[in-house]
Amino acid sequence: QQQAVAILVPGQFNDHAVGRIDRTFSRVWIERPDASLVTDEMRRAVRGIAAFGGINAALIDALPNLEVIANFGVGYDSVDAGHAARRGVMVTNTPDVLTEEVADTAIGLLINTVRELPRAETWLRDGSWARNGNYPLSRLTLRGRRVGIFGMGRIGLAIARRLEAFGLPIAYHNRRQVEGLPYEYHGTLKGLAEAVDTLISVAPGGASTERAVNAEILSALGPNGVFVNIGRGSTVDEAALAAALAGGTIAAAGLDVFADEPNVPPALLAAPNTSLLPHVGSASEHTRRAMADLCVDNLISWFSERRALTPVPETEKVKARS
Ligand code: NDP
Repeated sequence: QQQAVAILVPGQFNDHAVGRIDRTFSRVWIERPDASLVTDEMRRAVRGIAAFGGINAALIDALPNLEVIANFGVGYDSVDAGHAARRGVMVTNTPDVLTEEVADTAIGLLINTVRELPRAETWLRDGSWARNGNYPLSRLTLRGRRVGIFGMGRIGLAIARRLEAFGLPIAYHNRRQVEGLPYEYHGTLKGLAEAVDTLISVAPGGASTERAVNAEILSALGPNGVFVNIGRGSTVDEAALAAALAGGTIAAAGLDVFADEPNVPPALLAAPNTSLLPHVGSASEHTRRAMADLCVDNLISWFSERRALTPVPETEKVKARS
């Protein structure tokens, strides 16, 4: 029965997920998630989508028999979940299975930024150590820092637990205070930035966080300030960040995510006080396999038991059609 269910898989997708989809469903491929590429045959047949985000209202509307969108990733800001909910389409994501990996990456990026480890390694590899002597002492340290977490959710908490073990005080900002947490809560991002010197953003993308980290927030962080972004590039005003780094408004930044990936603003690339990663927060074979399994398990559960395993909040109430 399930062999007949057509799942649209746009663009490049995880190999393990593709293998499992091919064993369970009939896979339909298009080059990118774009409504103009949908053929009449797809329009009739497709009942599910498995994708790395990028699903807009036009694509949802191009597929009248669509029932479920299984997003590969916990962040689903590039899936129009509000529109899906209105159309009665379920959206699922991949929470929890990537939490510890992304928190590990955040800590690595923080240390790389503060202690300049990638630059120190380059110093060794390019012969500078042998030629010029020791790598210069890092201006910055984690010692004595106060850390603020913007987005104290699953990953934010996993980062906080790690930093507690480092002996650093932690504060956070969410729209709502989390009950039972021992960390200082700030009702505004500005209040948080004023209270700390190290800001880690792990908030979701989307309209409510768009460019939330702007010139005012960076200025509140101060000249010893370190900004780390492991959440989404859209939450940062990148031009303001580049200016703050160049002018000494803050000391350094570590970024895994950018507003227009894979394009990185030249000013951030050229800055001597940035540590930059190509969106590798969850990118280990181990964790991507777990994400692939949860993505495909959501599709299997939807079509065999008529329920999603990990629905996003917007579509929690969407019911299976039959
Ligand atoms: P959660 O939903 O568990 O946590 C998100 C937190 O952000 C919540 O505590 C929420 O609290 C807070 N938040 C949301 N909107 C706002 C807002 N407008 N203002 C202030 N706080 C806000 O998600 P996860 O921890 O699982 O994941 C977080 C994000 O990390 C993902 O959405 C994704 O974008 C990013 N990510 C990045 C990865 C990478 O590779 N770099 C990998 C995985 C995830 P409240 O609702 O109370 O405001």
